[in-house]
Amino acid sequence: MDKMLVHICCGVDAVWAIRKLKEQFPDTKIKGFFYDPNIHPEEEYELRWIETKRVCDSLDIDCIKGEYDLENWLNQVKGYENEPERGERCSICHDIRLEKTAKVAKELGFNKITTVLLMSPKKDFQVLKQIGEHIAQKYGIQFQSVEFRKGGGIEMMNKLSKQQQLYHQNYCGCIYGLFKQRQGLDIITELVSFGKGRLAGSREELLFIKQIRSFCENLGVSCKEQTFSFINWKLISSIMKIQKQPVYHTLLPYSSPIKGILRAKIESIIEKADKYIYKLNKTDTQIWKLKKELKEIPLKEPRILTNPVFIVGKDTNLEIGQKIELQLKTEFDASAKSQNLIIGDIKSPNKIFFHSDTLPDGTMGADLKEIISCIKQNEEPLKRGSICIVVLGASTVGNLGKRAFLEYTELESNL
Ligand code: SF4
Repeated sequence: MDKMLVHICCGVDAVWAIRKLKEQFPDTKIKGFFYDPNIHPEEEYELRWIETKRVCDSLDIDCIKGEYDLENWLNQVKGYENEPERGERCSICHDIRLEKTAKVAKELGFNKITTVLLMSPKKDFQVLKQIGEHIAQKYGIQFQSVEFRKGGGIEMMNKLSKQQQLYHQNYCGCIYGLFKQRQGLDIITELVSFGKGRLAGSREELLFIKQIRSFCENLGVSCKEQTFSFINWKLISSIMKIQKQPVYHTLLPYSSPIKGILRAKIESIIEKADKYIYKLNKTDTQIWKLKKELKEIPLKEPRILTNPVFIVGKDTNLEIGQKIELQLKTEFDASAKSQNLIIGDIKSPNKIFFHSDTLPDGTMGADLKEIISCIKQNEEPLKRGSICIVVLGASTVGNLGKRAFLEYTELESNL
């Protein structure tokens, strides 16, 4: 019996290609091999893996997860960082991935290999074919070059990935391609994870949702993602000094940036139930001193912008007349997206809610184990439709997930 190891780079490219292979080679044993050491950052790599696994599970195909040997990949493409897509760096990148696929195929006793990269309209079919055949020959196996795109393949890929609500990345994968493909856009914040939390609209938040979804689908429980857009606020940097001494602080989300350095004096104090508000002369910027330990504060209501608010803990010494120095750089992303995950039947009156996103200090959101154990406990009622579990996104920025869910529920019930 022929055995084919299929290199897979992402769920979207695999969703039609694997179907096509099963159809074209009904008597061949097919196994997936997810190998993407080129992907940056690692959360993106994990996201592509979980979506690949979802696709393979839905098609009853076994899939191995290759090693994330990024360092080796970076060393091998050294000197080709500035090449355009489809240039020399991409040929090396294909070489690395197909060479590994051939090696693993040989070790497993497979006699054929192929890659779903052949599916991508951005990849050169002839170059991939040449590389694949050359490498396969070296290992004494065969490279199967399949024209996945022909006969409406791209349309089928788009249709199926939409149906399965697959994560659709908007760049090829590596850090160099990302810079080239997004020229003119500020991409730095996409590459960096701030703090240890799953911030609203981040890859970490999406990965969390996909992990839960994958678990549910393996259990046979139906899931639906509901994506919504919002304006995201990101802190780039902030400095706060009292009498020239730096002070540990956080910011109220959606604080507007400060131009240059703001120098002011504390003018008055107002006491509230949970904090003291310090007003400064000549500015609307405020300092809040919490009556408890310093911690991040979620937004109760969605906002577009607020006057800058610096927050300090109960032990910070603040007095009228003290000299304050403040700096604040923030940015807004108008194309941010978050999502709710609806598990089970949305029409069920019994709903359990969890939050997926967390504050930058990692607090507020739910734990993966906690949600998984709730799903396990409610497996039968979820399948019967007598309960619905909803994991809400972007809760820390004005309960956006809940608002989107309520709007969505309204729409659903009107259908
Ligand atoms: S652009 Fe894509 S194919 Fe080219 S080197 Fe980067 S990840 Fe590899």
